[in-house]
Parts: sequence; C-alpha cells; structure tokens
Amino acid sequence: MKNNPEIAIVGGGLVGLCAALSLQHPDRQVHVIESSALAQQKATGLNSRSIALSCSSVQIFRALGLWSKIRKQASPIRTIHISSQGRWGVARLHAADYELEALGYVIESSILGSLLLDQVKHSKLITLDTEAEFENAEYGKTVKLDYRCRNKKKRISASLVVVADGASSKGRASLGIEHRITDYGQSAVITNVLVSKPVGGTAYERFTPEGPLAMLPLGRDRYACVWTHDPENTDHLMRLDDQQFAEALQQGFGYRLGYIEQIGQRYSFPLHRTEALALAKYRCVLIGNAANALHPVAGQGFNLALRDVASLCELFLNQSIRNLDEPSIAKALSQYEISRKAEQAKVVRLGDGLVSLFSNEFPLLGPIRAAALGLLDIVPALKAEVALSGMGFSFGGNSMLRGQMP
Ligand SMILES: Cc1cc2nc3c(=O)[nH]c(=O)nc-3n(C[C@H](O)[C@H](O)[C@H](O)COP(=O)(O)OP(=O)(O)OC[C@H]3O[C@@H](n4cnc5c(N)ncnc54)[C@H](O)[C@@H]3O)c2cc1C
Repeated sequence: MKNNPEIAIVGGGLVGLCAALSLQHPDRQVHVIESSALAQQKATGLNSRSIALSCSSVQIFRALGLWSKIRKQASPIRTIHISSQGRWGVARLHAADYELEALGYVIESSILGSLLLDQVKHSKLITLDTEAEFENAEYGKTVKLDYRCRNKKKRISASLVVVADGASSKGRASLGIEHRITDYGQSAVITNVLVSKPVGGTAYERFTPEGPLAMLPLGRDRYACVWTHDPENTDHLMRLDDQQFAEALQQGFGYRLGYIEQIGQRYSFPLHRTEALALAKYRCVLIGNAANALHPVAGQGFNLALRDVASLCELFLNQSIRNLDEPSIAKALSQYEISRKAEQAKVVRLGDGLVSLFSNEFPLLGPIRAAALGLLDIVPALKAEVALSGMGFSFGGNSMLRGQMP
C-alpha cells in the first residue's frame, strides 16, 4: 500500500466511491478511507432502499464505463406524474417528449453500492481501507491524514483530499469549515410496497397536506415510497401495523396503482439540510452530503453530488497532482467552488420551493398549487425547464455530462 497517494478520499459512501473511480488516473494513486466494513450487500427485496438517478447521472456513469452494468439493475422512469391531494391540478412529464428512453432510473442503493465497490476493488489505481476512521489532519505542503484502521493508528499524506464523509463530516470539522443546518421540521418515512395495478415506468410525486409523497417504480409491482410528515405524524405512522399503514398510504396516494398489497420494513428519519459555508480549503474539497445534504423531495442529493464529482474530474483528470503546488491547487479549487456553489444554490432553491409550496397548509396556497401544476402541464417551455432541472442538464455541461471522460 502506498503511504503517499496523490489523492485521498475521506468516506467511501456512494459519493466517495464515485469520486475514486472518476479521479483515478494511470499517473497517480487514489486512497479511500472508509469507516464502515462496506461488505458487498445483497438486494433485500421489499426491505431495500432506493435512489433515483437523473439523466445527468446516467451520462456520468456512461463516461465511467459503468452504465451498461447499472442499467441492467435499474428501472426506467418514462413518465413523472405530479399531483396534489384533493386538488384538480396534475402535471405529467414524458421522456418521449424529450426524445429520451427515460427521464431517470431507480436502483436499489445496495445494488449500486455493490457495483461501485466491485469496480473500486478491481482497480489497481485505488486503495480502499475499510473499518478506517479518519481522525485528524495536518495541512501544509501536503495534507497528512491520521486515521485508525482496525485499532491501528495510520498516517498517509496526500496532495489533494476529497472529503466525502457525510452530513456530520469530521473532515469538514477538521478543516474548520462552518456549516449551517436548516431544520425542515419534518421527517421522512420510507418503505417499499407491492401494488395490485402497477403502471410500468411511471413515477408519482404527490403533494399531500402532511407532506410530499413519492412513489418510484422498482420493476414489476414494486414501488419505493418516500413520504414526508411532521415528526408527530411520523411517530404515529411508525407505530401503525402494516395493515393500518397501508390504509393510511392508500388514503394519501389514492388508487392510481390499485391496492397497496404489501409493505416492506419502514424507516424514518428527521429532515434537515446541512450546508457547508465553504466548499474548499487548503488542498481539500468537500463533496456529497459533507458539502450539501438536501431535502429528499426532489431526489437530487446524489445526482448533484455526481455532478460535483464530474466537475472535479474535469479540473484534475489531466493534471499531475503531485506537481501541483499549493497556489495551483488553490486556483483550481476556487474555480470549482465558484461554479459549484451557483448550481448547488439553484438545486437547493428548487427543492425548498417545492417543500414550501406543497407542504404548507395556508388555505390560499391550495389554488396556487393547483394552478402551478395546471400551468406546468400545458406550458411546454416551463415543463421543459422543470424536466431539464430534474434531469440535471440545466446547469451547463462538461465532458462527463456528455458521457465522455475529459
Ligand atoms: C429518504 C432519502 C431519499 C433520497 N433519495 C434520493 C434520490 O432519489 N436521488 C438522489 O440523487 N439522492 C437521494 N437522496 C440523497 C442521497 O441519498 C445522498 O445525497 C447520498 O447518499 C449522499 O452520499 P454521501 O456518500 O455523500 O454520504 P453518506 O452516504 O453519508 O456516506 C458517507 C460515508 O462516509 C463514511 N464516514 C463517515 N465518517 C467517516 C470517518 N470519520 N472516516 C471515514 N469514513 C467516514 C460513512 O461510513 C459513509 O460510508 C435521498 C436521501 C434520503 C434521505
């Protein structure tokens, strides 16, 4: 194992592993430090968790040569149906209107994680240390990272550090980068369900008085459900038995997919947005949830993070990091920060706008919501703008967004 990799990545979650695969290059070594065991996970059927991939993510995976493997395990979203419970407005976005095979794809997170892990393990350019907890760092001509791997203290030194250790990032704290937490006063209940009348390739986003409810197709009669509620309602929903929960969900969602016939394991967690006040410092850059943990309403957190990775890749792929002095790295990272902050702010505004427009029970907002959905359905330019944002293409492009490595 090399003690002085050119690039170190703190955190080997979905985003950290994607960063490692994107930044590997024959001229340099990438070293990932991940605190969990990261064992290959098997899909767990009705109890699995899923993630919706936007078209921009598809292009990035295509550039990495991974898309054909991922595609085999993913369900396409060909139509997105957006509605508001008890209101007349409905909007539909169709892939065919944009000459696309799909507007996005849904995949079980464990399957995606296993595919990425497999790829990382097969790379001679990436070293992966699991059960390795980052503890601290010294920032100088290189960054010296201290971590504990299975009770042994270790130190590596790297020219560039990518911090991808999640929303409560120790890497971010060690850099002294402040973060802001916005509490949405809501929690998400997630589960998978089996329905009696699946509508192939259609995803639903339904705004209920309690909060947004998403049903994403997982193939055949299986759907992934994410339902946002206030914490009190969440506790109540979590205490219901499966039959009672199915009835509550049926009431919130309606009968567009027939009867809800079976419910998987339910999970709940409080929703807040964590936003780092800077994206880069010294020779380090924050990505993924360490930089921005978003509200899941628009399913954009991972997709946004992948575009961060693509942008980093564009800046660093052809550079020999070893020869980059501090001013050159600082210049590249400041360029990165300017371009990514703007896009991140736009995605956050879009998600927060949806949350406040559709979760607020102020009576006047009902007709506004209905009108917004009606307008979205009939104004092609508006629809195209929303579809492009959802697909991750409305923010300018780079090579990976065109499906090619820089
Ligand atoms: C309900 C829900 C639904 C979602 N749906 C979607 C969706 O459909 N589409 C989408 O794009 N996004 C979605 N998201 C967001 C997406 O899940 C996240 O953006 C993404 O998983 C963030 O990944 P990450 O690797 O940055 O962070 P994490 O997944 O938190 O990974 C961080 C990693 O760092 C490791 N780590 C932590 N501390 C240390 C340490 N000290 N040393 C070493 N390693 C450490 C952890 O073990 C972990 O593996 C959803 C989120 C939620 C909550």
